[in-house]
Amino acid sequence: MNDKGLGKKQREALAFIRHVNGWHSYAPDVESVIRSLAERGLVEYSYNSRQFRAIPQLHTIHCDQCQMLSINGVPCHETGCPNSHSRYDADSDTWIKQRECFECGCTVDADDPCCLAPVFDDAELEASEESEEA
Ligand SMILES: [Zn+2]
Ligand SMILES: [Zn+2]
Repeated sequence: MNDKGLGKKQREALAFIRHVNGWHSYAPDVESVIRSLAERGLVEYSYNSRQFRAIPQLHTIHCDQCQMLSINGVPCHETGCPNSHSRYDADSDTWIKQRECFECGCTVDADDPCCLAPVFDDAELEASEESEEA
């Protein structure tokens, strides 16, 4: 995402317009905010009608640690990149370290307890599933 380095007002305006499906009017006093967003290609705006809308952003996977290439959507890090065994999370725009669960062998987020998750979580899940069926 190229919304790094945005000010608070820019972030607020961007968060707002991304929830609006289409054009929305803006107040004259936020015009500079809208313009700076437009300069970054995040929104487009009409000066005459004082409306702006979000430009959908394609999630381009990039690595902040190396000159990563994305080949057929598969990230290929440079040798020795600390993110090479991590998973890209588009929502948070971060790389999440992965680990192999020694119980089931699945690759999971490093902070995901997987099979070591407390048992009462499963019991709660089953209980809620049963109540939904009833
Ligand atoms: Zn990398
Ligand atoms: Zn597991």
